[in-house]
Amino acid sequence: MHFTNDELIEYLRKNNIRPSNIRLKVLKYLLENRNHPTVEDIYHHIIHEIPTLSRTSIYNTVNLFKDRGIVNELSLNEKELRYDINTRLHGHFKCESCGNIYDFQVAENIGDGLKGFVVYKKDINFYGICINCQ
Ligand SMILES: [Zn+2]
Ligand SMILES: [Zn+2]
Repeated sequence: MHFTNDELIEYLRKNNIRPSNIRLKVLKYLLENRNHPTVEDIYHHIIHEIPTLSRTSIYNTVNLFKDRGIVNELSLNEKELRYDINTRLHGHFKCESCGNIYDFQVAENIGDGLKGFVVYKKDINFYGICINCQ
């Protein structure tokens, strides 16, 4: 799926984010690559388009997106944070062999036993070996 510059600008504006070159490039990467990338992954994919790019600017951008609710930060292990543009509730399966992260659907009524609780973060993480690595 490809997004035009106008679509990307609109996407940011409707989430109260002022468009900038870096923000547009990071958003485009996240929308077009649904592989739950790290800051490092994003950096390597867009450095050739913005030679002055720093990891810090990517980090600041994904944090802004997180604050505005357009990405979720995933911590599937203690060493790396990953970013997911799909903010609808779903689960993640991390393959311990290839490292890929797969999305899976969860039931709508998950968490029903917590009526009245205030939930800050929802993580549904499974770990194992994916079907391709078995
Ligand atoms: Zn695997
Ligand atoms: Zn996901």
